[in-house]
Amino acid sequence: MSQWIERARELDAQDPIAAFRDAFVIEDPNLIYLKGNSLGRMPKPAAERVRRTTEEQWAGRLVRAWNEGWYELASGIGDKISQIIGAEPGEVILSDSTTINLYKLAHAVLQANPGKTKVVTDTLNFPSDFYALQSVAKQFGGEVVVVSSEDGLTVTPEAIEAALDAETALLSLSLVCFRSSWLHDGERLTKAAHGVGAMALWDLSHAAGSVAVALRHWNADLAIGCTYKYLSGGPGAPAFLYVRKDLQESLVQPLWGWFGQERPFEFDLEYSPASGLAKFLVGTPPILSMVPIECGVDLLIDAGMGSVRAKSTALTDFFLQIFDAELSPLGFRLQSPHEAQRRGAHVSMGHDEAYRISRALIEKMNVVPDFRAPDNIRFGFAPLYTRFEDVALACERLHHVMVERVYESIPAERLTVT
Ligand SMILES: *Cc1c(COP(=O)(O)O)cnc(C)c1O
Repeated sequence: MSQWIERARELDAQDPIAAFRDAFVIEDPNLIYLKGNSLGRMPKPAAERVRRTTEEQWAGRLVRAWNEGWYELASGIGDKISQIIGAEPGEVILSDSTTINLYKLAHAVLQANPGKTKVVTDTLNFPSDFYALQSVAKQFGGEVVVVSSEDGLTVTPEAIEAALDAETALLSLSLVCFRSSWLHDGERLTKAAHGVGAMALWDLSHAAGSVAVALRHWNADLAIGCTYKYLSGGPGAPAFLYVRKDLQESLVQPLWGWFGQERPFEFDLEYSPASGLAKFLVGTPPILSMVPIECGVDLLIDAGMGSVRAKSTALTDFFLQIFDAELSPLGFRLQSPHEAQRRGAHVSMGHDEAYRISRALIEKMNVVPDFRAPDNIRFGFAPLYTRFEDVALACERLHHVMVERVYESIPAERLTVT
């Protein structure tokens, strides 16, 4: 295995965005953290931002702080996120959680298309997305059509296109699928949805900050996504939503609340929606959870998404080289696409003992991957702070767990959060 470590150090030395790792808190330099696709590492400026917001603004300015920046925070950070996902200023805003935003936007689409009741998604989508889509479809007497994956890893554009028809109101997919890392063709599928008169809604949770997203170029209608994964916004940080400018006036947001009202501080008992994106808000934004999001987003903007995507591809390519040579012979199955252009920034591998192996990595080897039932270990390679050396070290430690059978001492009962 030592030749891989040497090769990794060469790749790190040539990495144009290697220095961004220094912008994150690394408490334990020996920890190989490969779960940035689930909870991103903390940017160094985040603690100071939260301190200023609590000690100076909350404690010192109290309610006056709403007029000193808090009120505009959701749209200000949204405008920065728009640079990462290829949208325009005024098209992205922070609000609620990803699931709630999906509900709001899917509901708006079905309401705008009376008579069209079909929602198309695929089996690679995230369960929470299914639940929200099913709930919306049910309210409109519609149905969710689920395109299945033949190999459990991929869904071809042809298969999605075949499910779209004149009854379809909405195509809703995860751009990067959470389990296999399959990366859909956003441009082609948006076009296919438009071809049947449907709208396309992209869940960018595993895509924002890891792959090239060009919402405006694709003419995408709607999008949503998490900020606590590759954007490093912090645990439970609010999500973002995107609504293309020309749709903002006509769509009706179903959860009417005062932050979506035209003039919230006139306390009018009649609801009249705000113009523009503000209409997609509901209630008071969680300022303390929002403040740190800007730190990770600024870093991604500084690095440039072109360089970020190039590194994510290089990291996963390097992992696959080691996988083919060292891990595949130990009984691991690759459960992600081999072609880099169809893969996000994480890689999944299957093994019959996946759960005990992943716990052995965490508890005995200081490597944090994640486990997704039933047999999947995911390695997430967040491009801003993951080194090529981390990739090689993780593989070396995994190799050790297998040849020394370290996982056999781990109980098979599952912990609550895996
Ligand atoms: C992580 C993730 C979510 C999480 O939604 P929350 O409402 O923030 O819990 C939703 N969709 C996808 C595709 C995800 O990867």
